[in-house]
Amino acid sequence: MNILVTGGAGFIGSNLVHLLIERGHTVLNVDKLTYAGNLSSLSAIEDHPNYRFVQADICDAPAMRSLFSEFKPDGVMHLAAESHVDRSIDGPGEFIQTNITGTYVLLDAARDYWQNLPEASDEGASIAGSQANHSSAIIHQPSKKSFRFLHVSTDEVYGSLGETGKFTETTPYDPHSPYSASKASSDHLARAWCDTFGLPVLITNCSNNYGPYQFPEKLIPVVILKALAGEPIPVYGAGENIRDWLYVEDHAEALLTVLKKGKVGETYNVGGNNEMTNIDLIKLLCTILDELVPVNSNSQLELSTNKAIKSYQDLITFVTDRPGHDLRYAIDASKIKNDLGWEPKQDPKSGFKQTVQWYLDNETWWSAILDGSYQMERLGSTEQPS
Ligand code: NAD
Repeated sequence: MNILVTGGAGFIGSNLVHLLIERGHTVLNVDKLTYAGNLSSLSAIEDHPNYRFVQADICDAPAMRSLFSEFKPDGVMHLAAESHVDRSIDGPGEFIQTNITGTYVLLDAARDYWQNLPEASDEGASIAGSQANHSSAIIHQPSKKSFRFLHVSTDEVYGSLGETGKFTETTPYDPHSPYSASKASSDHLARAWCDTFGLPVLITNCSNNYGPYQFPEKLIPVVILKALAGEPIPVYGAGENIRDWLYVEDHAEALLTVLKKGKVGETYNVGGNNEMTNIDLIKLLCTILDELVPVNSNSQLELSTNKAIKSYQDLITFVTDRPGHDLRYAIDASKIKNDLGWEPKQDPKSGFKQTVQWYLDNETWWSAILDGSYQMERLGSTEQPS
């Protein structure tokens, strides 16, 4: 398939692009390269003949239209977004612009392109079929029937759960942060473009991802990098918030499965069957670090703390909670399992260990970020500094 990926230089996008290239697809990665976009996450495939990168803003309608007509995608995987809840508290404007207006622009460019495709191609042409027939000898001709637009979203649109229950695809939307509200709006737009204009849209709502190439402002890299530096590990509130964690490569596999086999107009929840309180997750990461980089072997600790540290857990520090912090998210992922045969493969224990190891092995990747756009400062606190 020719797949147009938006946000392919971000955390999930870069993992997805790696998977698509490995599976023999041709990828056009369209990314604005905001602070969260990082081309070094894609250095291993940057010269691959099936890969092309274009720096562009999804809000730029003429640019999006010309990319569609030039690249002729069989499918779109739309991941570009402002994605950090804390930043959405400090500056919601960018979230409205990219997540809502940008999604609208992209949907409309896709509609224009799709409406002008031939009804069906004889290239063997269902999306699933086109992978089997992939060959440079075949003239590429997507069809109206085979084209798909996959809108990638989050479980945060469903709001907060109590102690029991899980989000299903029919749970009413109840977003609480500017981030989740903007993603909810974009989901509604994607559905409207399907129901009103017939654009073959599919939607996925996924739980928290973890794994390689995650920008250091998100919980797991924050814990790892603060611990390694011997700095206080911030825990919002009492750390009792519960999240479901999915390994990012499992998410990428789920997205490809939905693009190839999903039913047009449907939503699929994607989750890891792996609920944890934030404090338990943070303690687990500290235990993994204790094993991989024992505190007595970490010279950074002596420099940055003046108290005796026996475990990285001694760095845990409770800070003011995030305003509007949802208590619990949990995903019922039985629909994607029963209908499309996808389920997570990564064992969470080894997944978290692999992730910690990845940050240990890839200091060049994250230190370049910490030298530039971000210094791990607290974001999204509505408290005024005294
Ligand atoms: P990310 O912040 O790491 O990456 C976002 C990417 O989008 C960056 O490369 C950025 O440069 C690009 N981008 C931002 N604005 C753009 C614009 N106007 N035009 C073009 N490109 C732009 O995000 P992520 O964590 O990889 O998330 C990707 C998608 O998956 C998002 O839509 C997010 O809502 C969704 N999602 C994320 C998670 C998670 O745990 N990270 C969970 C569920 C769903």
